[in-house]
Amino acid sequence: MKFSLLLLLLSSSLFGQTTTELLPHIKMFSGYGGNIINIATPEGNILIDSGTAKGAQIITKMIPQVSYLLATHRHQDHIGGNNYYGKQGAKIITHIKTAQYIKERNSGVSKEGYAAITFDKKYSLKLGGEELELIYFPNAHTDGDYVVYFPKYNLIHMADISFGTNYNYLDTKYGATISGLINATKQIIDMIDDNTIIVPGHGELLTRDQLKQNLIMYTEIRNEVKKLKDQGRTLAETIAANPSKKYDRRGEWSFITAEKFVTAIYETLK
Ligand SMILES: [Zn+2]
Repeated sequence: MKFSLLLLLLSSSLFGQTTTELLPHIKMFSGYGGNIINIATPEGNILIDSGTAKGAQIITKMIPQVSYLLATHRHQDHIGGNNYYGKQGAKIITHIKTAQYIKERNSGVSKEGYAAITFDKKYSLKLGGEELELIYFPNAHTDGDYVVYFPKYNLIHMADISFGTNYNYLDTKYGATISGLINATKQIIDMIDDNTIIVPGHGELLTRDQLKQNLIMYTEIRNEVKKLKDQGRTLAETIAANPSKKYDRRGEWSFITAEKFVTAIYETLK
């Protein structure tokens, strides 16, 4: 509790854009797209995500040089700085599926912004005395998301596998399923402890208890939707039955309404 209060006091806010000092050499930048983290090491900076194209214009001024850019997944609000950092010589790391997507689709990323390093299940990055574990979780948000875990500091950046306490965006077009989200959340809860600093892809820092509540929320809504689907209800009938009612006050937000979350669950139920 004391620690969270300290983090809050260290945050500075300007037009919704905040910088939070997680540790003296690890800063979180919010309001530029997804939550961004910079780790300053004696051998160079490691940046986790780079925001939207617009957000990256400011981020690249604040952090002009990075040695590694970790792009957690393919969405535009996380890869806006790929071109800039790629051009200035940063090594970009993505999951193999994200790398493929960025190359083949109209992702707004030019050749310089493509991944230099790709991996499938796990990747360990060492630089300037720091060691970061990049861990892939399939089908939780897209088909190519990874989280970044710092065992030494007991800190995790969950990327878009978490939207704080809000309903998650399941990008069903690119592999996300409700079981993928539930599995990833379960595994992350088991991997960390009650003192872990948890950075979601969007929103404020989370506690492990909040993550556990998220897991209950996803599971209960999934079960309700499944019950209706198993009874033969159509998607429209399922939405009308309001299976997420208990959690809408907690989970709904401008982009992911109850209807959108329920639709994604209904469509990806096995
Ligand atoms: Zn995303």
